[in-house]
Amino acid sequence: MSREYSEKQLAELQKIKTEVLCRKCNYAGYKDDKTLCDCMKKFIFIKELYFSEIPYEYWKFYLDEGLKEKLPSTIHLYCERIPTAIEKGLGMILTSVKRGSGKTTAMAIAGKAGIILGKRVYYTFFQNIIDDRFSENKDVEERIRNSDIILIDEVDKSVMKKDSPLKAHFEILIRSLASNKKSIIFATNGNDAEIGELFGMNEYFKGYFKLVSMFDENFRDTRKEKWDSAIKENQNYKNCVDMRDVEEFIKNRG
Ligand SMILES: [Zn+2]
Repeated sequence: MSREYSEKQLAELQKIKTEVLCRKCNYAGYKDDKTLCDCMKKFIFIKELYFSEIPYEYWKFYLDEGLKEKLPSTIHLYCERIPTAIEKGLGMILTSVKRGSGKTTAMAIAGKAGIILGKRVYYTFFQNIIDDRFSENKDVEERIRNSDIILIDEVDKSVMKKDSPLKAHFEILIRSLASNKKSIIFATNGNDAEIGELFGMNEYFKGYFKLVSMFDENFRDTRKEKWDSAIKENQNYKNCVDMRDVEEFIKNRG
């Protein structure tokens, strides 16, 4: 699939590449026998993550490193069953009224698991979908159409109001996507009633979307510590992904 990057994105990718290529292969990305050097494998994987628009700070999260107990088991199950979820159009609605309960982290983990399997993943804010509707380019719509897993963050309460004109648009969107071999994961801070109202959680939707309540208390401290260490570190693409993921991704890519 050909991809259109903006000039800004291309410049950023070039910068990432320069940072990631290593001395071992003389910054060529290939070994003497013409096979990919680890650094080039890493770059190809990073390029996918970058294209997915999953935020950088979520690239290195793992289910098996302290996060397993902090995320609901449905997230684990989803990650293990991604091809089936896409095939059947099954998604999730991650909910918690509070911020910092790991919704975006869970999305990023699921998205990354999809990328590793060679699936096309797209992360966006709900507001971007709304804005796109009124724009000429329809970039977001295009990305959604060309993706297998769509991660929609911050489905805001304002959309959930009964009389909001966006609600109808939203319903059409999910109906058209869910039945179309795509898996959508939503994150929302709405409470049960609001979610029921917005998603119209009738039997039809329940067949496609599982409501997953995040554990509110568990996550916040971790995030606070993350902030404290993040502010002290420079953005570093060299170590932003784990070689285990990279190897798995390259293997699946064939
Ligand atoms: Zn190298």
